[in-house]
Amino acid sequence: MRAIVMSEHGGPEVLQLVERPDPLPAAGEVVVRVAASAVNRLDIWVRENAGHAYRARLPLVPGYDVAGEVAVLGPGVTTLTEGERVFVHCDFACGRCEFCLEGDEAACAQYGVLGVDRDGGYAEYVVVPARNVFSLADSVSFETAAAAGSVYLTAYHMLFARAAFRPGETVLVTAAGSGVGGAAIALARFAGGRVLATASTESKRKRALEAGVEHAIDYTNPGWGAEVRELTDGRGVDLVIDHVGSAAFDDAVAALANKGRIVICGASSGVDANLDLLDLFARQISVIGSSDGTRRELLEVLRLLGEGRIDPPAIETVLPLERAAEAQELLSSRAHFGRVLLDPRR
Ligand SMILES: [Zn+2]
Repeated sequence: MRAIVMSEHGGPEVLQLVERPDPLPAAGEVVVRVAASAVNRLDIWVRENAGHAYRARLPLVPGYDVAGEVAVLGPGVTTLTEGERVFVHCDFACGRCEFCLEGDEAACAQYGVLGVDRDGGYAEYVVVPARNVFSLADSVSFETAAAAGSVYLTAYHMLFARAAFRPGETVLVTAAGSGVGGAAIALARFAGGRVLATASTESKRKRALEAGVEHAIDYTNPGWGAEVRELTDGRGVDLVIDHVGSAAFDDAVAALANKGRIVICGASSGVDANLDLLDLFARQISVIGSSDGTRRELLEVLRLLGEGRIDPPAIETVLPLERAAEAQELLSSRAHFGRVLLDPRR
């Protein structure tokens, strides 16, 4: 098969297209023929060896957001059929601790990720445990599934599990053009939220408004948190959904109403932040971390997509495997609106 293999850390040039033997499934595993694989910020962190929480073992095939068809069943796999259309869940964990048993595998001490801790989806085939494979409704395309999968799951967990979102609350989503940003907008609107979003350019703000956002704020203006307060009659927002990190933190805190919550699932601009503890206790705000989501939540997200009840993800472009480096550079440039995908069949 053709696969993108990273044998050393570094710039986009370390992503090399190579020929490899087709993978074989062990007991309890399946081989999935990849039809669409999303490119994520984490792939870039892993390539650069930048995120201290993630240490990949090289050589590695990156990519953790995969949709495709079951190609080969490993010994003992009886719950799937060859040719079945599926989304691949990226989490691997011990399966026995209290977090695994409640389905929140991202909290497991032995948590691992497809495309970080084992070979992932920048390839024609990927081998995964059968229990990581979720059936797709015919109404959900491979591209939609790969584009939605992990970011809709992440946003769902942030909104409903971590932040206990209530209908009618006002939500500010940072970076509307990002995968998680678009997912949070779709899900908060579905759940009856009033949604504001930030975006860096006029065209992205226009796209955000078209996606149903009430106000689109230019986050390149210093002090945009005050603008959010003005737009909410001085009250501020109940909830901020963020993955920008450092660059957004001060204004995100300024944008919060009293007793507001900020939920953070990433830090694309940097990991350092200063929190004035007076804000924390006097205004009773909460800063909440979130990572990934549960298998049950993934089932719910895929069901809602299949029923057409939530807006599907915006897709910026779909590129062939050999343009993986270009795909990651597009993500780094922040010029995209929506998801960047690879299709190894092209
Ligand atoms: Zn566990």
